[in-house]
Order: sequence, then C-alpha cells, then structure tokens
Amino acid sequence: MYKTHLATSIALSAALVSTVSYPFTLSYLAGVSLGSLLPDIDEPRSFIGRRSFGISVIINRKFGHRGITHSLSMWLVTLIILLLIIPNPFTLGICLGYIFHIIGDYFSVSGVPLFYPIDNIRRKSPVTYTTSGKVEKVIYYISVLTSIFLITKEKLLTPFVESISELIINILRFFIS
Ligand SMILES: [Zn+2]
Repeated sequence: MYKTHLATSIALSAALVSTVSYPFTLSYLAGVSLGSLLPDIDEPRSFIGRRSFGISVIINRKFGHRGITHSLSMWLVTLIILLLIIPNPFTLGICLGYIFHIIGDYFSVSGVPLFYPIDNIRRKSPVTYTTSGKVEKVIYYISVLTSIFLITKEKLLTPFVESISELIINILRFFIS
C-alpha cells in the first residue's frame, strides 16, 4: 500500500536526518515522498502508476510488477544519475525514499528481486508481513506517530518551517515582481 511506503519512508528519513543533523526541509520531504512511491511505477494500478501517463503500462509489460524497479541495481542507477547530475535535498530525498520502499517490500511476503539482473530470484526477510494485512496497518500507524514525534521536535521543525516560509516568500516574489 502506498500509504505505508509513504509513512515508513518519512519516519525513517526523519530519524536519519535527526541522527546526522541534515536539514529537514520541504524539498527533502517532497523527494522522500516521491522516491517512496517511485518503484511501484511498474504497476499501472498503483498510486503512482495511475498518474504516470502510461509509463507504468510500458514498464509493467516489459518487466512485470516488482521487477527491475524493485532491484538494487535500478536504485544504484537512479542514485548515480540523480546525485551526480543534480545533487540537492530533493534528489537525495528521492534516493532515500526509493531504497526505503525496496526495504519495505523486502519485508513483505512476496519479496523483491534484489539482485536483478544478476538473478531474478525474489528475496525476502525471514520475518515478513502480508500486504494490506493487520501487521501492515500497525506498521503504518507506528510510522505516522514516529514521524509526528520526530518532526515536531524543534531540531527538525525549525528548518522545516523555515523552508516552507522561504517557499511562500519566493512564490510571493514571483507574483509581485
Ligand atoms: Zn513496491
């Protein structure tokens, strides 16, 4: 479920920046959110697939759901391209959200082809959860609560509010000038 990917990725990325003291900004959060949904572009019925202007149909036909987009090699390619060409908080967020999604699916019963194209074996954690099951719901709520707890702490909240006000100022400047 896209909501769980979104919630777990936001919680993990918030936990990460509070440990390494990276600014938790709106563009970073937007990147994490997009990245956490991106691997499911291989499923036309997914949240992002329905908004992909037909790209998901093409990827799904060629690789199927939980194929190449759920592999470490695809993540590495994304990481190298994005961070070498346009390194910024948004692209860093995409790379983090992307890998959090793969990790999330690795813990699901269906698993993911981690080492595609070396092999096409779906690998999963010894402890798994069923997609759309009760455990997933619990994971979702824990992630939402963790995110709220971490983001409302001053350390993350201050740069977050600052980045929002910066955005509003820039929008106003654009319309006024
Ligand atoms: Zn997925």
